[in-house]
Amino acid sequence: MIETYPEIREAVTRLCAKFPGQYWRECDRQMAYPAEFVQALTEAGWLSALIPEAYGGAGLPLSAGAAILEEIHKSGANAGACHAQMYTMGTLLRHGSEAQKQKYLPSIADGSLRLQAFGVTEPSSGTDTGALTTTATLTKDHYVINGQKIWTSRAEHSDLMILLARTTPLTEGMKSTHGLSVFILDMREALNNGLTIHPIKTMMNHATTEVFFDNVQVSTDNLIGEEGKGFRYILSGMNAERILIAAECIGDAKWLIDKATNYAKDRSVFGRAIGQNQGVQFPIAKAYANMRAAELMVNEALRLYEAGESPGAEANMAKMLAADASNEAANVAVQTHGGFGFAEEYDIERKFRETRLYQVAPVSTNLILSYLAEHTLGLPRSY
Ligand SMILES: Cc1cc2nc3c(=O)[nH]c(=O)nc-3n(C[C@H](O)[C@H](O)[C@H](O)COP(=O)(O)OP(=O)(O)OC[C@H]3O[C@@H](n4cnc5c(N)ncnc54)[C@H](O)[C@@H]3O)c2cc1C
Repeated sequence: MIETYPEIREAVTRLCAKFPGQYWRECDRQMAYPAEFVQALTEAGWLSALIPEAYGGAGLPLSAGAAILEEIHKSGANAGACHAQMYTMGTLLRHGSEAQKQKYLPSIADGSLRLQAFGVTEPSSGTDTGALTTTATLTKDHYVINGQKIWTSRAEHSDLMILLARTTPLTEGMKSTHGLSVFILDMREALNNGLTIHPIKTMMNHATTEVFFDNVQVSTDNLIGEEGKGFRYILSGMNAERILIAAECIGDAKWLIDKATNYAKDRSVFGRAIGQNQGVQFPIAKAYANMRAAELMVNEALRLYEAGESPGAEANMAKMLAADASNEAANVAVQTHGGFGFAEEYDIERKFRETRLYQVAPVSTNLILSYLAEHTLGLPRSY
């Protein structure tokens, strides 16, 4: 059994109550970063929950992080503005040197530095990470970065970026995931020295960007772990990332099912509550059942993760099932609300747009299915 953290959940819910639908609608309208919300979470220590106590964090396990993120989403809020810190930090924690951890983690924990940007995806490589073309070329005491990233979320609101770049040119016969390295990039220094950031407008307010590197210098001190092993380091954080995103989807699904249920009870058409019709109540009940099943998989993935295993299949299944559950709940909530499902003031259409993302990012459903087909079922690799 994993812990359920009732006290943490209650405290996070109380904090989120200060940021009601109106706040999120206003941020949406302005396409504004929810800075006040992120600040409040930072001050309350929730964003540093997973940083070990030795570096100024709360030293809580992944299940606590999942509880925090689920509760944020269950409150109708959105952790997309800041959730990356919980999993990008893991790359530094697991593979960084003691000097790097001492330099960055305490400041991330106390909120004076933000590590919210994660530069992996590129326009030409997409899901095929090994095909990325951003290079880091070693000179005497620093690397020079050239290339482009896309969908680098929160880059405008982050001080640091975990960056994956190619340090060894891809040659024939070489595995494409070899020769990649991870850096911790100080974007404050880089911004006046070859780094440019362009926001990308998306269907939801996600503060995502494209980032260009034109001879950006990074000290060799900022290489994480060994040169050339970066893909493995990034991969080692994927289970945690998938589980945390799955927890957010469970939170979204719960919020949406709750809204649909309450509306179905209150809305009267043909002289009775619409929720009295099986055509209205069954889809909500089905969405609930699917959410609960997904939640069990999230808990199983957490259990295995905290037992020290590497639950690739469970983390992937948790992410896929939870994203499916929240997507289904969003559809049902729109349908139950009829016309009002499309009205901004009900927040249903906002959640519908927000939760749709998790069919595609941080890993798309197809890639999860091909992982399961290959690694769990032993079918031939399809790509
Ligand atoms: C709002 C947003 C925020 C994001 N934030 C970040 C971030 O902070 N950092 C970061 O690095 N990235 C980020 N991403 C990128 C995200 O991880 C990618 O969009 C995602 O992994 C899919 O890659 P792609 O968009 O290049 O799609 P593509 O790789 O071009 O794929 C397009 C479609 O084809 C399917 N497909 C591709 N190959 C196969 C195959 N072999 N078999 C079956 N189907 C296949 C995919 O499933 C997908 O549906 C973000 C994306 C979005 C939209």
